[in-house]
Amino acid sequence: MNLLEERIRKDGVVMEGDVLKVDGFLNHQMDVRLFQAMAEEWKRLFAGCDINKILTIEASGIGIACIAGLTFDCPVVFAKKTKTRNIAGDVYRAEVRSYTHNNISEVIVSKKYLGAGDRVLLIDDFLANGAALAGLMELAAMAGAQVIGAGIAIEKAYQPGGKLLRERGLRIESLARISAMDESGRIEFIS
Ligand code: 5GP
Repeated sequence: MNLLEERIRKDGVVMEGDVLKVDGFLNHQMDVRLFQAMAEEWKRLFAGCDINKILTIEASGIGIACIAGLTFDCPVVFAKKTKTRNIAGDVYRAEVRSYTHNNISEVIVSKKYLGAGDRVLLIDDFLANGAALAGLMELAAMAGAQVIGAGIAIEKAYQPGGKLLRERGLRIESLARISAMDESGRIEFIS
């Protein structure tokens, strides 16, 4: 998606540790008009798929997922990161290794908000090693919900998550796919 690629070129900063900083428009200050254009692109790509729920993960996927929820006209659920066990009630649980913090969090979704009959679109800001998406897939599987696909804003395609999850049969629609980047500011995209 050209609009997103242009914005990454203009405002993205490559940090050490293979982290692209995009907090001027994606995951701190949020350009909701850009989110709207992204959501419309996912709506076009997943047309006819009868998506009736969007599932994302706390925290940085939530803003994008909410705008997608408006476009798809369906509820948005986010998997919550918990620190304390056993206080959350009747929930599905999965463990996810955070790419940016390099720790493992438990994420939960209430059984009330995900279940059989749900046709789920997973949404997240980045795809790197695939841990966040795999955790969401695990929660959906426990709930008996059907994952129709994943809408990702930025896929770092030189990292293994996209290949691994596509091999597992997940349809992933990434709006910008980075093939290489480095701290000199070079960012290359797969067109
Ligand atoms: P994965 O679970 O696929 O390894 O990484 C995806 C998650 O890590 C996303 O939810 C995102 O928040 C975070 N992430 C991964 N790579 C980057 C990056 O280059 N920049 C930022 N800002 N977040 C990233």
